[in-house]
Amino acid sequence: MLNVHIIPILSDNYAYALEAPNSQELVVIDPGEAAPIIAYLDAHGLKPTQIWHTHHHWDHVDGIEDLSAHYGGLPVFNTKNPPADHFAEEPLEIIKTPGHTLDHICFYFPKSAIIFTADTLFSMGCGRLFEGSATQMWESFSKISVLDDETLIYPGHEYTLSNAQFCLKQEPNNQALIERLEEVEKLRAENKPTIPVTLALEKQTNVFLRAKDAEEFAQLRALKDKG
Ligand SMILES: [Zn+2]
Repeated sequence: MLNVHIIPILSDNYAYALEAPNSQELVVIDPGEAAPIIAYLDAHGLKPTQIWHTHHHWDHVDGIEDLSAHYGGLPVFNTKNPPADHFAEEPLEIIKTPGHTLDHICFYFPKSAIIFTADTLFSMGCGRLFEGSATQMWESFSKISVLDDETLIYPGHEYTLSNAQFCLKQEPNNQALIERLEEVEKLRAENKPTIPVTLALEKQTNVFLRAKDAEEFAQLRALKDKG
């Protein structure tokens, strides 16, 4: 099983450090800033060997240069230069998820049942459509929803609380959502991450995943954009 370190950076982003057993390899995913990641790795006696990023936005890439330089130069993998199809002994699938940006990719590890969804799928939310269409994002969501229900989702931001409040407005009687909101409020009061979350729970609580078709998905996205 892979070991995932959750590293909060900037105001509400998550970077991740990914360790594989019996391997010296350590990947840092989406370093939007370097300093807190270096501090975290130092505190845990970890040394990165690779950097991956999911899309080109500054809050996912701005730390790459400093992070790489600090460790003497690290290879960087992304959409244009994807990582190999294995990380240590773990098979890796790159899932293309245009919508938030056209170049957005998710890193999926079927053996460990882990996916890094960045700004495509948030807990109870979905990324804003900066470059792609609602239909593209809907199709990207469809690629995630077919994965194993026990898959753990690691998104790019801690937006869970406001997302839950939006979802509850759409489905005020959804018991799973009511319970998840209570859990999220407790976690946030203690300044703890609300992720990872299973795909099964997202299917019960994320209105964007629950949309029956692209049209309903687009309506929800437009409603959320209004604030
Ligand atoms: Zn983004």
